Amino acid sequence: MRHEGVDKRIDTAISDWARTVFGAPRQIVKLVTNVENLDAKVERVYVEITQRSVKTASGSTRTRQASPPRLTANTVDPFAYTPASLRAASEYAIACMPCRAEGHVRCDNCSGTGTATCRTCRGTGKETKHFKNGNSRLIKCKTCGTEGTVRCLDCGADGRVACRSCEGSGHRGEWLTFEETVTRRVRLRHDGPKHSNPSFEEVRPLEERELEAFEVEALSIGQLAVVLVLSSIVLLAVELEKLIRRRRS
Ligand SMILES: [Zn+2]
Ligand SMILES: [Zn+2]
Ligand SMILES: [Zn+2]
Repeated sequence: MRHEGVDKRIDTAISDWARTVFGAPRQIVKLVTNVENLDAKVERVYVEITQRSVKTASGSTRTRQASPPRLTANTVDPFAYTPASLRAASEYAIACMPCRAEGHVRCDNCSGTGTATCRTCRGTGKETKHFKNGNSRLIKCKTCGTEGTVRCLDCGADGRVACRSCEGSGHRGEWLTFEETVTRRVRLRHDGPKHSNPSFEEVRPLEERELEAFEVEALSIGQLAVVLVLSSIVLLAVELEKLIRRRRS
């Protein structure tokens, strides 16, 4: 039999639960005839492991002088930095390899000569003129004037172009950066009736409001793990005459 003075929270819990169930009877609380103790203890361990692996990155730099490395990838603590601050603390300059620190390289188009084969006549000095009557004949190339070569436009006849690897500075910057991977895991252990709260299975830390209905027995927060041991009244499968009552002892 149901006793008077039963904790109002049980009624509230039943009503709340019924609202989530399609077709649940109205006034479900009035149908309750009996309340049984059914405490469930759930141990929930949420683990989040963050790994940062340090690696070297490089790119062009405006610096025109080489400098020695400042930090080593093996010994640096990547958790002491943001990517930006790690770059600022570790960046140094090395001589650019493709241009041997000169900032410019030989022009590919003219092979460094400053003159390139005329594209109009392909070096022959002559081009084909087509007439309306269908005839055609070879005439002097108007682009190069029979020379067969033109001033190289890629390098401005200089024979060399700015090195793309260092954008002309002759040096490249190297710095340390890190890749971050986060592994998340949830382990649940049930002591007593199995818990049916789906949010417990979700791989994330639980929020304060999600724990309001539970009695948190122990809570420890470390850098790697958050452990919650919960003892609670939990609605498992609510049969109309079987309910859960918080044990107060
Ligand atoms: Zn050129
Ligand atoms: Zn030509
Ligand atoms: Zn270069």
